[in-house]
Amino acid sequence: DYKHNVRGRFAPTPSGLMHLGNARTALLSWLQIRAAGGTYVMRIEDIDMTRSRSRLVKAILEDLKWLGINWDEGPDQEGPYGPYMQSMKLRQYESALNKLHEQGLLYPCFCSRTDILGAASAPHGLAGEGPAYPGTCRWLSEEERKEKERYKTPSLRMKTPDNPERFITFHDQVAGIVSVPASTGGDFIVKRADGMFSYQLAVVVDDAEMKMTHVLRGSDLLDSTPRQLLLYEALGYKPPSFAHVPLVYGPDGRRLAKRHGGIALQAMRERDVRPETVIGWLAFMSGLTPEPIPVAAAELIPLFDMSKLPAHPVRLSEEELRALQAHTI
Ligand code: GLU
Repeated sequence: DYKHNVRGRFAPTPSGLMHLGNARTALLSWLQIRAAGGTYVMRIEDIDMTRSRSRLVKAILEDLKWLGINWDEGPDQEGPYGPYMQSMKLRQYESALNKLHEQGLLYPCFCSRTDILGAASAPHGLAGEGPAYPGTCRWLSEEERKEKERYKTPSLRMKTPDNPERFITFHDQVAGIVSVPASTGGDFIVKRADGMFSYQLAVVVDDAEMKMTHVLRGSDLLDSTPRQLLLYEALGYKPPSFAHVPLVYGPDGRRLAKRHGGIALQAMRERDVRPETVIGWLAFMSGLTPEPIPVAAAELIPLFDMSKLPAHPVRLSEEELRALQAHTI
C-alpha cells in the first residue's frame, strides 16, 4: 500500500541556482529515501511568486538530473499527490487556513516591520527574523480592528500557546531531542498582507498531503519545525520524521552561498567538471567518504548512514574553497 511506503522529498525554492550547499541537502535527502527503498518526490516551492523564476525551475531540475538525482514524482512526472508546484495549490492552502480560522487560531495583524522593531520589550525571535512578534494585534478590540481595517490590509497570524509551560518537543534524527517553549518566536504569519500564503503553512499542507514520512533539510530550518508542529496538530495531520543536516560554511565562517562565487553547478558544468567529481565532494562534506574521490550518486546508496553525518557544520578551508572555485577538483 502506497500510504505505508517511505516517502521523502527535495523542495527547492526557485530563487537561485543550485550550488554545492543546496546540492548536498538534495543528495542527502535522496540517499535517505533511496537507501530505504522509498518514493522520492520533487516539489517546487514557488509560493513566493515575487522570488520565483520559471527559468530557474528548469535549471534546478537539470542540475539535479545531471548529478544523478532522480525522482519518482514531480512537476514533470505526475503522481497521485500532486500538483508538485506550490503555485498550483492555492485552494488547498486556503482550506487549511479556514480550518485554523474555525478553531479561533488566527487573527489579523496590522503591524509593519517598524512597529514590531519598535516594541522594545520583544523577546528574541527566530534566527534571521528579528525580534519575536510581541502579540500587539492579538489583543485589539473589535472596534480597533474595524478602524484599522479601513486603512490597511492585514496579514494573518497563527496564535502560539500562551502557556509558558507548554513546550514543543521532537526527536530530530541529526540534532537529537529538541525542546523549546511553544511560543518561541511569537505568533507567526500564515498569510501575508499581499495575499501570499507563508512558507510555514504551505510546507505543512504539502508535506502532509503528499504523505511524506521523512523530511531531511538544512539546519537553517530547525527553528521553523516547532511552528510547523503546531500546524500539524491544529490541522490534524501526523508529522513526519525530521532530520536537519548541518550546513556547509566557507572559510569566512559564513554559510556557503552564491557570495562565495564559482560554486554554482552551472559554472562547473560549463567548465566540464564531471558530476562524479561534484558528488565526491558532497559525499566527503557529508562524512560518507574519507576523501573527495569521484563517485556516482547511486554508488553512495549502500554507504548512506545517518549516524555518519557530521553533527556540526562543515567548514571548508581556504585551499578547499579555492580548489572548488577554480574547478580543479
Ligand atoms: N524551500 C525551502 C528552501 O529551499 C526548503 C523547505 C523545506 O525543505 O522544508 O530552503
